[in-house]
Amino acid sequence: MSKPNVAILGLGIMGSGMARRLLSAKFPLAVYNRDRSKCIPFAAKGAFVAESPREAASCSQIILSMVADDAASRQVWLGPKGALAGVSPSSVLIESSTLSLDWIKELETAAAQLGCEFLDAPVTGSKPQAESGELLFLVGGSADALDAARPVFSVLGRDAVHLGPSGSGALMKLVNNFLCGVQAASFAEAVSLIDAGGLDRDKAVSILTAGAPASGIVKRVADRIATHDFTPNFALRWMAKDLAYAVGSASARGIPLRTAAAALSIFQDAIADGYGDEDFSAVTKLPAMRTNS
Ligand code: NAP
Repeated sequence: MSKPNVAILGLGIMGSGMARRLLSAKFPLAVYNRDRSKCIPFAAKGAFVAESPREAASCSQIILSMVADDAASRQVWLGPKGALAGVSPSSVLIESSTLSLDWIKELETAAAQLGCEFLDAPVTGSKPQAESGELLFLVGGSADALDAARPVFSVLGRDAVHLGPSGSGALMKLVNNFLCGVQAASFAEAVSLIDAGGLDRDKAVSILTAGAPASGIVKRVADRIATHDFTPNFALRWMAKDLAYAVGSASARGIPLRTAAAALSIFQDAIADGYGDEDFSAVTKLPAMRTNS
């Protein structure tokens, strides 16, 4: 079966890994990135570098966006040269960024007005999984659209789980990430208390990571503390963004996410202290954790 033409909008940490996977699997690929210098390595590997999301969309059957936040997604889909201006009714539109439920609803409505299938399909997994094609896609939208997108998902991910109608994938992703953010913030507080109480940090952390509090995210943060490496796989500012979207989306549905709100304020402090572009695990470096007595 011939491979569909694919467009990737956004060549950040995640989008660039996904684009590399598609090129390795010999998919005809168009790429767009706001900062065009990030497109250069992809042109060298045979991708078509589009001037605009509209141009990328106009030569593609499957168009996948992987950008920062609601504002970035609005820009690539609905901006003056946005992708929606280049799609046809047979196009399948995929939004894989982690975004608010309100924006996903608006985007789905705009896609439907053009007669296009739309999937919200955010992912779990990070930079290594984007590079190796082991992401997990959390999909909302029609089963037919998912079937059409499967050839792409199967190269980029270990699975694509259909969670229900449009918005279901976005909701699942916010639930996933608010739990991650809360655990990371709690662990940062735990480390502060360990230090302030004079415990041996390595011993204490190894007890936690071998015991009941251990989770994938706690272990990931513990590894970063041990190696003092805070190079971003997932930027701290995007964890704050996800917590904010989760708090806002839940509040609009009458659910106050109080632990997420507390974690959000800790991540906001970390951004104010200059850690926004570091890995989210840099929340453990927040001086306020230690001095706020
Ligand atoms: P990133 O490395 O910071 O990349 C962000 C991308 O968004 C870049 O391509 C950037 O373009 C683009 N962008 C930002 N503002 C824009 C605007 N106003 N208009 C057009 N493009 C804009 O982020 P990432 O880690 O790849 O994350 C991308 C998405 O995936 C986010 O929603 C994130 O929450 C989600 N996610 C990330 C991970 C992870 O572990 N990294 C895991 C799961 C989900 P420029 O290059 O021009 O700035």
